[in-house]
Amino acid sequence: MRTIGGVRRWVSDLLWFFYPELCPGCKKAAARAKACFCMRCESQLLPADMCFAPENEFTERLWGRIPLQSGAALYFFQRRSPLQRALHRLKYHRQAHIGLQLGRLLGAQLKRSPLFRSVEAIVPVPLHPDKEQLRGYNQSALIASGISDTMGIPALNSALERRRFSESQTRKRRMERFEDTEEVFALAQPEAVADKHILLVDDVLTTGATLEACGRALLSAPNVRLSMATVAIATTNKMR
Ligand SMILES: [Zn+2]
Repeated sequence: MRTIGGVRRWVSDLLWFFYPELCPGCKKAAARAKACFCMRCESQLLPADMCFAPENEFTERLWGRIPLQSGAALYFFQRRSPLQRALHRLKYHRQAHIGLQLGRLLGAQLKRSPLFRSVEAIVPVPLHPDKEQLRGYNQSALIASGISDTMGIPALNSALERRRFSESQTRKRRMERFEDTEEVFALAQPEAVADKHILLVDDVLTTGATLEACGRALLSAPNVRLSMATVAIATTNKMR
């Protein structure tokens, strides 16, 4: 796993040397080798500085809802920022490399922090298979792959599955006033995550409902310790 990651990193460094990628924020300036955004876009971003803080806005948002070892986001989400443009291009414009770039950036920060040193595997929040087919990829899996490259830790892309409730299950849940959701997360590979410190990864943390549901599924396997990381954290009342 590490060897494949190493070769992939070497190939991508070599490609970058000959064909530098454009900054995902403005698509004009060339992205800097290890920085993802150009200097101008980078200066407009709000770093969250959470990787070294055991308690921060990320962990507070999930507090009392799910037991978390550590949690961190890379940037605060702001509207009309280069980060929003990059995430939009990743999600809706088939620019898969942006997911890898952002993942490597996040991975580089996590790798330096003692809070994430014992992480043994990375699990992305899954998309429903229909949606993944439509989009061409799962953006969270690309971010997870970038983190995996940088940290030298395997990404388990099939550990979790997103399924739809049947119509009758959905009706029953609504009648019983459960959350108004028609999807559920299932742990497809409990043996792959058991006894491990797992890093659950998504693009943005908003209310935390999705990460919480995925986290619960992961914690259903024995002896799982859970941490979470996202590229961005959005404020829930007003998306800054
Ligand atoms: Zn830029």
